Amino acid sequence: MDKKKKIAKNTDKPIQKIRFIVQTIFALLCIWIGIEFSQFVAYLESNGAAEFSARPPGVEGFLPISAMMSVYYFFVSGNIHPVHPAGFFIFLAIIGMSLVFGKSFCSWMCPVGFLSELIGDFGEQLHKKIFKRRIKIWKYLDYALRSIKYLLLFFFAFSVFSMSSLALEYFLGDTYNIMSDVKMWYFFAEISRFSLIVIGILFLFSIIYRNFWCRYLCPYGALLGITGLLSPAKIKRNPVSCIDCGLCAKACPSFIKVDKVITVRSDECTSCLNCIDVCPVKDTLDLKLVGTEKKIDKKIVAFGVVLLFVAITGLGIMTGNWQNKIPAKVYIELHKSVNSIGHPMSTSDIEKLNKASEKGVENGTKPIH
Ligand code: SF4
Ligand code: SF4
Repeated sequence: MDKKKKIAKNTDKPIQKIRFIVQTIFALLCIWIGIEFSQFVAYLESNGAAEFSARPPGVEGFLPISAMMSVYYFFVSGNIHPVHPAGFFIFLAIIGMSLVFGKSFCSWMCPVGFLSELIGDFGEQLHKKIFKRRIKIWKYLDYALRSIKYLLLFFFAFSVFSMSSLALEYFLGDTYNIMSDVKMWYFFAEISRFSLIVIGILFLFSIIYRNFWCRYLCPYGALLGITGLLSPAKIKRNPVSCIDCGLCAKACPSFIKVDKVITVRSDECTSCLNCIDVCPVKDTLDLKLVGTEKKIDKKIVAFGVVLLFVAITGLGIMTGNWQNKIPAKVYIELHKSVNSIGHPMSTSDIEKLNKASEKGVENGTKPIH
């Protein structure tokens, strides 16, 4: 019998509106953090003469390498480093979300992912009008380009995990790490022509090809893709009731051939649930626990990602590991020479500290904290 004749219509409500609301709230939160941070920088620029404006700890969410170092430091020393404690908890929250719900941070909270999605939607409308179809990159080129983000991740992870606890402590306590958020602020506030051109090119490429930055270049996304593979929640297709309409694959922003697999096990799946929403047949495409037929309600994903993020960052706030204890006068002093603060460690510095650490000898270089 023709499968299309015995369709049990999917009447599940789409979750995309809720996802859009969550993305918007997090984007607004980031904008709010940006405004607060600009006021903090203005306070530093006035040498403390202007009205005091506190530094928002949420800005540390934009320092993933420092956060990765803090997590590693925690494992080797048992302590939470005091310079960017909020970054430590935000990083853990994002990894925690991916371990439970796959690479969900990218499609539910990341402001860059959100922007990338909006640009991608605009681009696809354009493609449909001009080319009458979605643009896809030749698959071998796609593989090659996707490997770039893993190479970047490997480079950062290798640099971090090859450091001894002494080298880590030195780096994390150095003025460079303390002022890294202020330096990042100036990078964007006084953006160079070259950086603007690079951002413009990325913007253009994201119109031409959906999620260009996320798919090919973001090392954070690469890390979440790997941890997301460990998640027990996977998109599963029932090949018996599936009518092979291909709508799921067409709706997938990550170009995954959902209609050709039983279980989606892809480092590119961001748990956006678009595919489930568009599937016209009831109980054919669902998020399920690996190894079981237990269906996970879409609302649990929405609620779960937010709850995990709030719970883990809330733990940081409640345990007093959120706002760092660096006095404003130290920031003002460091700000005076912010332009001359450079990366503190060459490879040979790290090697020296690693050797000193192995011998259990401090070599005289003292971290600030
Ligand atoms: S497979 Fe489904 S949940 Fe995963 S990215 Fe594609 S549309 Fe989103
Ligand atoms: S949307 Fe995908 S899973 Fe659902 S019926 Fe069509 S091909 Fe099958």
